[in-house]
Amino acid sequence: MMKKKKALKKGLRLFEGKELSKDFPITTINASSIMVYPLSMHIGAPAVPVVKPGDRVLKGQMIAKADGLISAPVHSSVSGTVKVIENRKVVNGDRVMSIVVENDGLNEEIEGMGVKSNPDELTVEEVVQKIKDFGIVGLGGAGFPTGVKLSPKNANEIDTIIINGCECEPYLTVDYRIMLEKGEQIVKAVRQIQRILPNAKAVFGIEDNKSDSIKVIKGFIKTDDNMDICQLKTKYPQGGERALIYAVTGRKINSKMLPADAKCIVVNSTTCYAIYSALYENIPLIYRYMTVTGDGVNQCNNFKVPIGSNHQDVIEKCGGLKENAVKIISGGPMTGFAMSTLDVPVEKTSSSILAFEVDDVATVNQTNCIHCGRCVAVCPTDLVPQMLAKAVKQNNYSLFEHLGGMECVQCGCCSYACPARIPLTHLFNIGKAEIRHQLEQKSKEVN
Ligand code: SF4
Ligand code: SF4
Repeated sequence: MMKKKKALKKGLRLFEGKELSKDFPITTINASSIMVYPLSMHIGAPAVPVVKPGDRVLKGQMIAKADGLISAPVHSSVSGTVKVIENRKVVNGDRVMSIVVENDGLNEEIEGMGVKSNPDELTVEEVVQKIKDFGIVGLGGAGFPTGVKLSPKNANEIDTIIINGCECEPYLTVDYRIMLEKGEQIVKAVRQIQRILPNAKAVFGIEDNKSDSIKVIKGFIKTDDNMDICQLKTKYPQGGERALIYAVTGRKINSKMLPADAKCIVVNSTTCYAIYSALYENIPLIYRYMTVTGDGVNQCNNFKVPIGSNHQDVIEKCGGLKENAVKIISGGPMTGFAMSTLDVPVEKTSSSILAFEVDDVATVNQTNCIHCGRCVAVCPTDLVPQMLAKAVKQNNYSLFEHLGGMECVQCGCCSYACPARIPLTHLFNIGKAEIRHQLEQKSKEVN
């Protein structure tokens, strides 16, 4: 019997735009001549350089080590010479300490990279350590170190591993392609995660606009009772961790809880492939899989890009931008960053480049709130965005907090739905940052 499809209760059914790039198989592109490796491509403490200017490095070599519990090492994706370690501009406009490597084009690798290995010969602790040492972080966008995520205090209580195959933002297709092209490897990686979390069933959460991926994964799961597919109705922001846990299990978590508190661990499908590459092929996280799309790009595509490459070079591989491309975004259209320059490096969390022509950019002017309630109807965390916005505009941050502003997952649904074009999500970023700042100040005073 066909199972009833599950779905997030609220959220939005968005224009998809995925047809522009979904049929292009992933192709590998060459690294740039100058590679830039930011030391903060993950959540947590920045990595610490273990090389210095003038050093020769090999492809796959660790060039910065993790600093503390929540951190991740960085590896070179080329062979070459370290030119400088300095602050460099990154996609979100910040300047981040980065290791700059001049690529010698020789692709000389560290010994053992790419050599097949069998993780079943490793202990569970060794598997987790290898995931940490190989620099794997969440590739769905957050960049949380995966080895840390897979080491919850209550490992034996985790009953569900959710493999996030939603890719719910419009235009993005690279997770879809990875599931289609690397389904067998993903399933093998998930079996290793199940060794780490021995009492957990693995459930692939995949939206129904990816029926091809569902078929492929189903084919590799076969009759494994400990793995299943939860086919979800396509809805944004279902790929968000909290939303997905709710859609798959019906369990709710808030901003003060971890997925492990709901006995769940969520791992993105492309992250699973990175785990496979580390455990079975001895390849650290040196590649980023990216969609380059939008009607401002000459040729849409899905790419395997050496991390540290320049965005401009990636765009050139698509035949460049169209003359009237006016808006370029790193990441999805709902949660990504508008880019002021393409002269920034591809990071571990760079899922896509979107370029749009004039017609794609909203030109409607902002007006006052007309109390239509659309923002409330779409908010997946049951907030009242128009009240939150009022509180931020009045600098009343205690009211913002009281109304649950810290539970906002910044999905952008309210801003998208608002006919008055009020930049609601932007206001909530400000509100959340202010509350965090106040909390930091208070804790400094106490200490
Ligand atoms: S208030 Fe936050 S969580 Fe709710 S729709 Fe807006 S951005 Fe999303
Ligand atoms: S959607 Fe916009 S106009 Fe409508 S109630 Fe919310 S803030 Fe006001």
